Amino acid sequence: MRISPHARAPGLIQNRANTTAGTPRMTTPLPPAPDARRTLMLLRISAASLLLALLLLFTPSPRELAALPLGAALLALLPLLRSLARTEQAKASAASAADERERQLLDAIEALPAGFELWDAEDRLLLCNQRIREDYPQVTEYLVPGLRFKDVLRQSLAAGLVTEARGREADWLAERLAERGQRLRPRLQQFGDRWLHLYEQRTASGQLVCIRLDVTELVETQHALARAQAAAQAERQLLERAVDAMPAGIEIYDEQDRLLLANRRVVSWMPHLDYAQMLGKTFAFMLEQTRAAGALPVEAHGMEEAWMAERLARRGRSEQAHLQQLSSGLWLRVSETRTPEGFLVAVRQDISDLVLKERELQASQAQLQAIIMTAGVAIVTIDAAGHMLSCNPAVERLFGHRAGEMLGQNVSLLMDEPDRGAHDHYLRRREGSDGERELPLLGRTREFNALHKSGRSLTVQVSVSEIRGPQGKQYVGVITDLTERKQFEIELQHANEQLLRLSTTDALTELANRRLLMQKLEEEWRRGLRLGTPLSLLLVDVDHFKLYNDHYGHQAGDSCLVRVAEALRASVGRPTDVVARYGGEEFVLLLAQTDATGAMAVAERCRASIRQAAIEHAVSPQGPLLTLSLGVISAVPLRGGTASQWLAQADLALYQAKAQGRDRAVAAGLFNPI
Ligand code: GH3
Ligand code: MG
Ligand code: MG
Repeated sequence: MRISPHARAPGLIQNRANTTAGTPRMTTPLPPAPDARRTLMLLRISAASLLLALLLLFTPSPRELAALPLGAALLALLPLLRSLARTEQAKASAASAADERERQLLDAIEALPAGFELWDAEDRLLLCNQRIREDYPQVTEYLVPGLRFKDVLRQSLAAGLVTEARGREADWLAERLAERGQRLRPRLQQFGDRWLHLYEQRTASGQLVCIRLDVTELVETQHALARAQAAAQAERQLLERAVDAMPAGIEIYDEQDRLLLANRRVVSWMPHLDYAQMLGKTFAFMLEQTRAAGALPVEAHGMEEAWMAERLARRGRSEQAHLQQLSSGLWLRVSETRTPEGFLVAVRQDISDLVLKERELQASQAQLQAIIMTAGVAIVTIDAAGHMLSCNPAVERLFGHRAGEMLGQNVSLLMDEPDRGAHDHYLRRREGSDGERELPLLGRTREFNALHKSGRSLTVQVSVSEIRGPQGKQYVGVITDLTERKQFEIELQHANEQLLRLSTTDALTELANRRLLMQKLEEEWRRGLRLGTPLSLLLVDVDHFKLYNDHYGHQAGDSCLVRVAEALRASVGRPTDVVARYGGEEFVLLLAQTDATGAMAVAERCRASIRQAAIEHAVSPQGPLLTLSLGVISAVPLRGGTASQWLAQADLALYQAKAQGRDRAVAAGLFNPI
């Protein structure tokens, strides 16, 4: 744009200003410098006008005029003056049109939605629009026409109005002046809290047009955008770190299956892939690279093409995880999920430990199964209701049922009464110490009456343990066949009883022997001592038995002794009475809780009984029949005395009976401990 010197006429600007809003809108520039050409033109017009006026005043005829020397000259000038007047008239009219254009131009500048300044070639302010003053009221006082840009700038700096220059005002000023009018692009400058774009353009005549466009909103939007971008960047960084820190391998692919992101773990698991180079590459390409490096999963070995084709076909179509073993031996669980945007998130988890444990578990289960199947003991698994879930061959052998006949049946099938009827009791749960309900059988070993399929009774020993499976509690019973052992035990017990009987029984007479007698004697003595009850003892001796033996022979003597024993046994009735063979042809009757009177009565019954037996004794000095002599002793056991002493005193009574003529009972005196 070019402002003509005419337009800068003070009268014109002021005049326009006065005729519009009443207040000056446009800064009045400096008075223009004197124009020699214009002045000369004005002088000419003035002279011509003066001559024309004189001519018209005297109005001479052309003839008179021609007669006059001056007139002749004027006449000669007349066409020239007329032409001059016409030219000036045309010029005035042209100037008026230029003024009109100027006004229009200034109106346009005022209407600009930006600040407008015009500086002359010496960088002095020529004009600025009202917007500049409104936008920068702080510097209004410096915007005086004719002031140099440099000075306006210094004053603004001194007032601290240029935010970006604070602290380095001198340098900033030098830089600003150096680039003044040189930049092709607008300069972004902060002024107070406002941002503006500064366009500086030199005109051909050397003037400098400056347009200040307020871009505060734009800049604030840009700043907000930058902050949002920084926040998004920080969030992305955080996300990347979080993904990196995850205990799983993670890859993200875009909708065209191109790699967007891979975390550290994946990178470490796939050393054959240069992940920095893989970003943006498709999964198919990466798979090809993996194949080329011979690093496809173990399952693909030997069928690489087919495996890759299937892998690509199934890629991202199913969210079901699959297992992969890398050539490094690592076991990975791979799941691929599509996001609503069509991205694919691939998650790999290292489950090597799990797979290893599972394999160990499978091996130990197989081992356990082998042991169970070959075990000699019967092993049966039941559920909480007592239904048989599994059984080993030993169960079939023990009970005679085939597995198919037992599985699903209640375990009571294998039991015999009374345990069959009571088996619900064993299965019934009760409160355990930890509040859990448990079987009363748990942790114990118990004998059961069991039943073979044939109906034969079995004795079994059962121990039950609890296992908690996915279907709830189950119980494992280990069953040992005790039938043979039980039989053996019974026989052993019988043998022991026999042995005991033999060791306490006289072989000839089957009466208690001397050992049992002495034992009973001690017991009854202690009881009598404790209760203060009387105790009696009869010492019985066959009269003249030596003669009997001599006469009838030793065997007949034995038979005679058996008959004497029977007669004595028949003479006592109480279960506590003991009849024993004391030795040879001597017998003892021990009568608990029996006093002297009772004892003597029993002694007489013995004699009567032997009389009734009527055992012939042909050579006895007593008569034709066998007789007995008895020493009877009764006492309430005394402290200080012993059973043996007491027995010895019975011997004295027997001696007296013999001495008094045999075939009689003699009571001993009061027991006196010796
Ligand atoms: P007395 O009336 O004084 O008792 O005379 P006795 O002959 O019975 O006396 P003695 O005690 O001297 O004899 C006991 C005899 O009993 C000696 C022995 O021959 C006999 N005798 C002892 N034990 C047995 C036995 O187990 N069987 C047989 N047949 N005879 C026996
Ligand atoms: Mg004797
Ligand atoms: Mg005798």
